[in-house]
Amino acid sequence: MTLSPAALASSLADQGLRWLAITWVNHAGAPLVKVVPLAHLEAAVRTGVGFSPVADAFGADGSIDPAHRLAVPDGDLRLKADPAALAPLAPARGWAWAPGERWQRNGEPYAADQRHFCRRQQQELEAAGLTLQAGFELEWLVAEAEPGAAPRPAMPGGPYGADRLVEGFDYATALLEAIEAAGLPWLQFHPEYGASQFELSLAPGTALEAADRLVRARLVIQRVSRRFGWRCSFSPKPSLERVGDGGHLHFSVQRAGQPLLQGGEGVAGLSEPGQQLLATLLEELPALMALACPLGVSYLRLGPSSWSAPFQVWGVENREAALRLIPSAADGVAAHLELKVSDLGANPYLLLGAVQLLVRQGLAGQRTLPPPLSGDPAALPLGQVSRLPGSLEQASAAFAASALLRQGMGEALHGSLLDSQAAEVRRCAQLTPEQQVAASCWWPLVGGLG
Ligand code: GLU
Ligand code: MG
Repeated sequence: MTLSPAALASSLADQGLRWLAITWVNHAGAPLVKVVPLAHLEAAVRTGVGFSPVADAFGADGSIDPAHRLAVPDGDLRLKADPAALAPLAPARGWAWAPGERWQRNGEPYAADQRHFCRRQQQELEAAGLTLQAGFELEWLVAEAEPGAAPRPAMPGGPYGADRLVEGFDYATALLEAIEAAGLPWLQFHPEYGASQFELSLAPGTALEAADRLVRARLVIQRVSRRFGWRCSFSPKPSLERVGDGGHLHFSVQRAGQPLLQGGEGVAGLSEPGQQLLATLLEELPALMALACPLGVSYLRLGPSSWSAPFQVWGVENREAALRLIPSAADGVAAHLELKVSDLGANPYLLLGAVQLLVRQGLAGQRTLPPPLSGDPAALPLGQVSRLPGSLEQASAAFAASALLRQGMGEALHGSLLDSQAAEVRRCAQLTPEQQVAASCWWPLVGGLG
């Protein structure tokens, strides 16, 4: 039974919740927020709160490029909270959270809204008898912060080290408590390879659930890191010397209850439709990169032999392949794909909207899936495998040329994203790699430490 917003608000009040943070994620990948009293939930759902369309012209550093089509003072949109996705944020302090979608004043959905795009793709997938389950892995650096200085790793301990878990025991405990208090189902937490780097894998759900969970998890991780006097960085490359942070996306697809990535005659048990959707994703990867790796600094992460997978190949259990198939096995784990190139600059609604669109279109296509690659593609002779775009400019050109994405997203969304990409390319063109890293090393703190 779905509660009415008024009944929901009163049941949340009984649980001690008082305030509602309504977030959405703009074209630059930054979460933006407005807060209302929970007592006003009904109005937040029905009429929403005001948001100027210019917020999608904000760049990764918060500036507005005057050439962006949305860099205008006119108009207003209504950000409406989605009550079905309402969740605790920091319940002990009275905070609840809901994702929002922006609507026009005339009651029409706003065509460039990111979550609306993801929702539409989810509905179209479901109408075609398909279900997609997805979950993100988040990697982040925990660092001591001083304005003007590079992030200094806050915690000693080796790669995947239990020593680091013990060094950071209070942090890890507080973090997992906060994650669970926020109602976030998770699968795994560990110290990652890089100094003071951690990883959390979120449990799979629908595309909207996966994107919503990523947004909420980042807020919780940011909050807990601050409580310890540290800062977290989700920057794809918080320092030039150390490994980067990924935001890998895992997903599986079923048709009429049948998994498409296993139980077939193809390599590693891929079914014929599974091969089709993989072939389409592989072909569209350069265009998808503009959404999966949307910051200038994203491309500084994508070095070979660092498990960030910058080659246009797929592989079975190959961590250097941009699309990694994890096949089903005797242990009963269901087969799924991992998009390894993506980072946490990505707007998860756009990324998952596009992945769902490509999966659906892919199943209607007739492509030939190349064989999987094993081993490190960087060790192969030059030209034997294609490198993915090495810059946002190249990825954006592929995004502009993708008929599938252009048609599926619609001109308002696709075109305004192209403007945002052009603004990010212009911003980074002025900066050396060192300056790019320094300018976004505290991502998602827009503009750095100020
Ligand atoms: N940190 C690596 C990246 O940038 C990923 C390491 C891993 O495979 O988990 O994507
Ligand atoms: Mg990892």
